[in-house]
This record gives sequence, C-alpha cells and structure tokens, in this order.
Amino acid sequence: MPLIVQKFGGTSVADVNCLQNVATKIIQTREKGHDVVVVVSAMSGETDRLINLAKAIHENPDSREYATLVATGEQVSIALLSMALMARGCTARSYTGAQAGIFTDNDHEKARILSIEAEKLRQDLNEGRVPVIAGFQGICAEGDITTLGRGGSDTTAVAIAAALKADECHIYTDVDGVYTADPKIVPNARRLDQVAFEEILELASTGAKVLQQRAVEFAGKYAVPVRVLSSFNESPGTLITFGHGGMEQPLLTGIALSPREAMISIQGLIPNTQAIPEMLTLLSQQQVDIDMMTHYVDSGQKSNIRFTLLRDDYAKVSSHLSTLAKDVVVHTGLSKVSLVGIGLRSHPDIISLLFKTLNQINITPQLISASEIKVSIVVDEKDAGVSMRALHAAFGLG
Ligand code: ADP
Ligand code: ASP
Ligand code: MG
Repeated sequence: MPLIVQKFGGTSVADVNCLQNVATKIIQTREKGHDVVVVVSAMSGETDRLINLAKAIHENPDSREYATLVATGEQVSIALLSMALMARGCTARSYTGAQAGIFTDNDHEKARILSIEAEKLRQDLNEGRVPVIAGFQGICAEGDITTLGRGGSDTTAVAIAAALKADECHIYTDVDGVYTADPKIVPNARRLDQVAFEEILELASTGAKVLQQRAVEFAGKYAVPVRVLSSFNESPGTLITFGHGGMEQPLLTGIALSPREAMISIQGLIPNTQAIPEMLTLLSQQQVDIDMMTHYVDSGQKSNIRFTLLRDDYAKVSSHLSTLAKDVVVHTGLSKVSLVGIGLRSHPDIISLLFKTLNQINITPQLISASEIKVSIVVDEKDAGVSMRALHAAFGLG
C-alpha cells in the first residue's frame, strides 16, 4: 500500500475542533487506500508559551532543561490526536521522539538527527495502526530529550518519510502552499504549483518559515517527494521538484523575510589579527550561523568586518564577542529581505531595479549582498514589510 507521511503544524492542531479536522483528513487518506504515519507539532502558541516560561526563570536557560520543557508541547498533541482517531474507530498509537527511535546528537536546542530505528512504526503499519509521532524532538546517546530547532517538526516528518521510504511527505499548514512571499505580509503573493529544491532551500534559509531549512535539506539528500498543503482547504498545494524546470526559468521565484536580525561591525582591527578567526570559531561552536559577511581593508590599512546574525543568536554570544574585540558595534532592530531565484544568474540589472524601487519609497538598505541565486538586503525592521511589497510588485511576482 502506498505510504504517506502527513505532518500537521501548530495552527492545524490549535484546538479540539482542529484536532477533529485533522483526524478526518487522516481517516480520509486511509480510506483512499494509503498507509499513513502522522507527525504533529505543539498546539499553536504553546512552544512560545513554554519558551517564555523558561526565559522568565533565566535569561539563558540551561539547554538540557530547555529541551525537556519545550518538547512537552508536542506530547500533548500526539496523545490528543491519537484519542481523536481512536474515538472514530481508527487504531492509533502516540510516540514521543525517543519512543519513535529518533536518535540525535547532543545539541539539545538544535539537534541533528543521526538515525531512526523505525521498527515499531513498521509494525504498527503492518498491523493496521496509525503511528502519531511528536515532531521537533529526539533522544541523544546520553538518553536526554533533544529538540531540533524552531520549526523542527517539518524535519521530523521528512526524516521519518526518508527512513520509511514513504511515497510522499505532506506538510499541512495554515497556508495552501509555498507562495512568492509570505501571504500574511504581501497580500497579492501567488501560490506556486511547484518549486525547485534549490529555490525552496534558499527561501527557507533566508526566513520563509513555511518549511524548516533542515527539512528541505533532508528532502534533497534522500529524494523525498514533499508537498506543502493546507489543513483547511483542498487546494493542490505546492510540490517540491528535483532537477531544473523549463529552459526559461522565471527570473525570480520569491521574496523571503527574516524579521529579527542583528548586524555586527568591528572596525579598525590590525590586519591578520587572530580576533577574526577566533570569533568565527566561537560562533560556530555556539551553532550560530552568520550571513552577509564582508571584510575590507581601509585607507589606514586597518581590517574591518561586518556580518548579520539572528537577534536571538546574538543574545547568546554577545558577552563573548565583546571580550574578543573591542569596538564591536551592534545594530539590532533590523530585518533581512531576500530575493531568490535560479533565474537570478547573470542578471546584474536586478540590483539596479532593486535600488530604484527602494529609492522611490525612500528606503536605504544598510547592507546588500548578491550571489548566484539570491540578493539580500538589510533594512530597518519597520521598513521590511513595505520593502517586500514594493519589490514584489516591481519584479512582477504578484
Ligand atoms: P506550521 O505551524 O504549520 O509549521 P509555520 O507558521 O511554521 O506553520 O509556517 C507557515 C507560515 O509560513 C505561513 O502562515 C506564512 O505566514 C509563513 N510563510 C513565510 N513565507 C512563506 C511563503 N513563501 N509561502 C507560504 N508561507 C510563508
Ligand atoms: N513546536 C515547535 C515550534 O514551534 C516545532 C514546530 O512547530 O515545528 O517551533
Ligand atoms: Mg513550521
């Protein structure tokens, strides 16, 4: 029987009515003759609530305890959804990440999945049961609960689909697919019937949270067919495709927003100072990703470096950074807007149109970087939405 992994995000399991709606979708899929494995997130807002509780106790809570706390959200959803399925006569069984055999490294807050021992899940399928697995969590070699980073239930779903060699992985959420921009910010954004793996990878890594970046990476590595769908309507959604589309790719696929960014500038360093490699090593040890890095030597022969990082990550490393170099200048209150598209290659006029569009609305980007597949700008947080809407219109994405 074809196997489908269905993942339901927070808004899809927000309350009892939503849970009943999800149970109906699962039962309908089984009635069409598919085996189903389910992955669920915490009920909408629950993970934020738990994180705020932890932060109310300590600004930088212990990672092991943080993971133990925030993983509880998903445990509520798996039990409730299994109950809802059983109430309809569909045999189901809930699994925490550990019970489902999801083994990770021991980074409690952004763990990586190392292996999945899916025997119990296969047995359930053979015996006609629906396994309902908690997304976002696993267990490390020390036996501790780990979490996969915000949005990590997507990664659980794609990883389970890869481990079980599922025919498809369906990511159900509150929008009916991947759009040319977040439809909550750009109302006339357009749903894409399909999106190339490279494009969704870039959109996810630059902030389009409709899919977690690691989920996309997993899909690429194990060639898992993934479709993004709505829990609330019957739209065909968006299929992620592998291999390039037609010969004439559209110039641009979409625009992504990373709303909470910080920019760090360190000026006047002695050339070849150890401070730069030491700082980068520290950031990597703390699992902090940086972006838009520039380095230049000024007329006084001093080294200057500038890069962006997520504001929450900055909070984790701020004290270390200032001990490594004096004159660290931090700009918070920034957002990053990225234009993404395979067709961007060899089109320098894109940057020209970008500047013209922003000039017309009196917005000056504080930093800009371009690569083969994306152009990112950093703007004041208050200007991000208006910049996105203007660029979306100027590039004819609507
Ligand atoms: P879930 O809880 O189901 O995992 P998320 O909130 O993590 O849902 O992701 C879905 C949200 O992603 C949408 O509600 C939308 O606001 C946002 N989003 C950002 N960029 C895009 C995009 N390009 N296409 C669709 N949704 C997007
Ligand atoms: N509940 C977790 C979060 O809010 C994981 C997820 O929803 O994917 O980040
Ligand atoms: Mg999500």
